[in-house]
Amino acid sequence: MRRSPWYAEAMKVAGIVGWPVDHSRSPAMHNAALRALGIPGFYGLFPVKPGSLQAAVAGLRALGIAGANVTLPHKEAVLPFLDEVDDAARRIGAVNTIVRRGEALVGLNTDAPGLIRSLEDEGVAFQGRALILGAGGAARAAVVGLGNQGMQITVAARRKPAARSLLEQTETEGNVVALGDALALRDAFSKASLLVQATSATLVAEGEDPTSAEAFVRALPIEAFAGHALVDLVYQPRQTALMKAFANEPGLMNVVRVDGLGMLLHQGTLAFEAIFGAPAPVEVMRRALLCP
Ligand code: NDP
Repeated sequence: MRRSPWYAEAMKVAGIVGWPVDHSRSPAMHNAALRALGIPGFYGLFPVKPGSLQAAVAGLRALGIAGANVTLPHKEAVLPFLDEVDDAARRIGAVNTIVRRGEALVGLNTDAPGLIRSLEDEGVAFQGRALILGAGGAARAAVVGLGNQGMQITVAARRKPAARSLLEQTETEGNVVALGDALALRDAFSKASLLVQATSATLVAEGEDPTSAEAFVRALPIEAFAGHALVDLVYQPRQTALMKAFANEPGLMNVVRVDGLGMLLHQGTLAFEAIFGAPAPVEVMRRALLCP
């Protein structure tokens, strides 16, 4: 029997909604995975200005798009335009993946399970207390992901009320600490088994001065840390000032250090599985993410 040419098969179309979005590595990751699995499909860029989000979601619906990822600045704003939002996305208050279930558009958040998969890859155990630095979107995903694994949670942020409302919003029991409270912060470092750096303070764009990232790290009582793993969610640079400080601190050299690229990869592998309904070819996607 003659096979239909590829263009005659039902092509699954998906893409990433954001503004600006042209820097995104998601098309490279997802298209490489589609090619590797021989799935007829295409993953594109959907640049959507802030005022056009509702119309864009209506467009996804009307065009029968298989699914989409959502990035800045739309991850929070998109919730009211969807038919359903899963529990993790609702607690995090952000959707990064939209899938079609029948006629419904359903919002998911794969950042939290993506973080968990990246830690599992490195053999990190989810026991004891996680100390999470920061109170923004990445910290919310970490709190929900690690809380769901049964870890106790402490959130340390420069604004203590922000840490408190993060716990409230995510419906999580936990402690809060102000980054400026040296005694309480030292105590929190000494009691944590996993440290999660979820502020943007260690982010240093190419060509930027690293001085303030280094100052942020110097102010942390890392020598008090008695746990077994550190993850810095920032992946630019991959070796952040905090990861370097752990590598150079006598007594912390055996701490497992995990960079933020694993979470970026696995939010993508989980989104791929949700949108295209096939197991993600993880190594293919990792190579596509790393190769410019
Ligand atoms: P947000 O802007 O939502 O939050 C940033 C947080 O960092 C806020 O709590 C902010 O505090 C805090 N912060 C910034 N500068 C400092 C500082 N000098 N000292 C103390 N706290 C500081 O960003 P996101 O949460 O979305 O992202 C945070 C980082 O995580 C980003 O740099 C991003 O690269 C990374 N990320 C990585 C992902 C991955 O897949 N690996 C996914 C998502 C994010 P305040 O509110 O007081 O300003």
